[in-house]
Amino acid sequence: KKEAVTLRKSYKGNITGEDIPLPIGSFEDLITRFSFDKRLLNNLIENQFTEPTPIQCEGIPMTLKNRDILACAPTGSGKTLAFLIPLLQQIINDKETIGLKGLIISPTKELANQIFIESIKLASRIYLDKKRPLQIALLSKSLSMKLKNKIISDKKYDLIISTPLRLIDVMKSESLDLSNLKNIIFDEADKLFDKTFVEQSDAILGLCNTKNLRKSMFSATIPSSVEEIANSIMLDPIRIIIGHKEA
Ligand code: ADP
Ligand code: MG
Repeated sequence: KKEAVTLRKSYKGNITGEDIPLPIGSFEDLITRFSFDKRLLNNLIENQFTEPTPIQCEGIPMTLKNRDILACAPTGSGKTLAFLIPLLQQIINDKETIGLKGLIISPTKELANQIFIESIKLASRIYLDKKRPLQIALLSKSLSMKLKNKIISDKKYDLIISTPLRLIDVMKSESLDLSNLKNIIFDEADKLFDKTFVEQSDAILGLCNTKNLRKSMFSATIPSSVEEIANSIMLDPIRIIIGHKEA
């Protein structure tokens, strides 16, 4: 507890909400506190991710405790891994379930691709059972066609990363089974909930009709409009601000 206070002071963390989980001080803490997957830890270390950044110290335990989060941390502070690490662990925990368990929404193709590349590094050589590797897809134009034409089964993927319109298109064609979806992440939430994108993000949420869907938003800035939306769509969200909140 005392360590948590010191840690939060060191990175100017401002965390608000009910029943806030303690941050981690190292990735190894995840092994003791959450029976974290050793292969995932090895993949982190192999990729030179040895120490968690502040947003990772805070965000990872919260997602592992199934909390909705609204996270604001500066550009370059490691937000991608802050949502990918716990999301992959949740997928591993849910290995009995076949099919889509996580969605990551990004406002641009370039960013979606970066998230995909980072996720592939972390998921490398992780099998959910003997024959079934943890599968992640970037929803490209060709993949969306293949899903719509049933050339590829939607059961193949555990996690899909997409821009809003392409995802909506596939969702509306009913070629994605969403019944096992547990987590949805909005990256660059300030953009995804601004005037240009808010209707698309709302449409996605409307099409995700599973109950107990955990939602997270990550951004470098949190305008008050986004904060209002977060409070209206999330359940007991925790708000994480690292550094100063820019609006
Ligand atoms: P943000 O989304 O907050 O702008 P990114 O997630 O894109 O930041 O991360 C910025 C860079 O920091 C990336 O190159 C990423 O690989 C690197 N990075 C993230 N987490 C760590 C870590 N724990 N240790 C070392 N490098 C990291
Ligand atoms: Mg980012």
